[in-house]
Amino acid sequence: NKETTMAKPASRPASKVQLTHPDRVYWPKEGVTKGGLADYYAEVWPYMEPYVVDRPLALLRCPDGIDGQQFFQKHGWKGINAAILQVEDPKEPGEAPYIAIKDFDGLIGLVQAASLEIHPWGSTVGDWERPDMLIMDLDPGPDVGWASVIAAAEEIRDRLQDMGLHAYVKTSGGKGLHVVSPLKPSAEWPQLKGFAKDMADQMAADSPGKYVSTIAKAKRHGKILIDYLRNQRGQTAVAPYSTRARPGAPVSMPLGWEELDPAIGPAHFTVSNAPTRLAKLASDPWADFGRDAVPLPVKRQRRGN
Ligand code: ATP
Ligand code: MN
Ligand code: MN
Repeated sequence: NKETTMAKPASRPASKVQLTHPDRVYWPKEGVTKGGLADYYAEVWPYMEPYVVDRPLALLRCPDGIDGQQFFQKHGWKGINAAILQVEDPKEPGEAPYIAIKDFDGLIGLVQAASLEIHPWGSTVGDWERPDMLIMDLDPGPDVGWASVIAAAEEIRDRLQDMGLHAYVKTSGGKGLHVVSPLKPSAEWPQLKGFAKDMADQMAADSPGKYVSTIAKAKRHGKILIDYLRNQRGQTAVAPYSTRARPGAPVSMPLGWEELDPAIGPAHFTVSNAPTRLAKLASDPWADFGRDAVPLPVKRQRRGN
């Protein structure tokens, strides 16, 4: 039941990378194949490119599809496709190189390697130490209603905006939402982590019935974990438009704030319906992401410190 997708001929890229076994099935129930995955990425590439190019990447590789073995992989491997870059972490000279891509061929190289999820760093290989985005990952407990997750995302947006930052939202393709704030690289990782932790702790202190900021407390039902730990050197979050190795072939979909709606759940958008959504969009809801980057506000020094 492969849906015919609406191509955008002007922007749809072609790849020189050879896909072997394009009929290999990755999402059995949905009938999404390796070739279908490559077609999906050709559709979304113009939107996805800024968030995956020139960043260290972690991959969830599933050679036998979502029901087989899964490998979460940060480093290059023997026989890696030439379209995929291998980059040395300046803090780990001589150690195993990280994975990066610079173009659509690189993405198709990842597809060829059965990468069903793509998880970039929040900094680029040109500036490893200074992140260019903040990511707040909202992880709802099992009995939290979706309207509460939306409210949490909006509260984070408001708090970010009060501090002069901009906020964007996407579905995770799993259970939650991610609120992402573009940064002008300036603060280094420890400062960003401190900033994100302060916000998560403050939200938990202000609304202890709704939010927790530590994983230990997140086991309590009925609460949303404000997972600020994406904002650490070496940590990753799933890329905008990346597929998820989960039933339904969901994708992480950037949205406009006005689109948040109880009817659109965290895994609403999929490999099958995402291209149609993009074809119908009047404009990319994240179009201003790059332009909206500002430096992380510097923390006021406490007296006595
Ligand atoms: P959900 O909405 O279901 O929470 P998510 O992508 O936000 O989806 P989390 O479990 O909240 O998932 O986030 C964990 C993050 O840790 C992922 O985004 C990923 O970058 C990273 N990660 C995922 N799998 C692994 C793994 N096996 N080892 C290390 N890090 C992982
Ligand atoms: Mn999450
Ligand atoms: Mn999380």
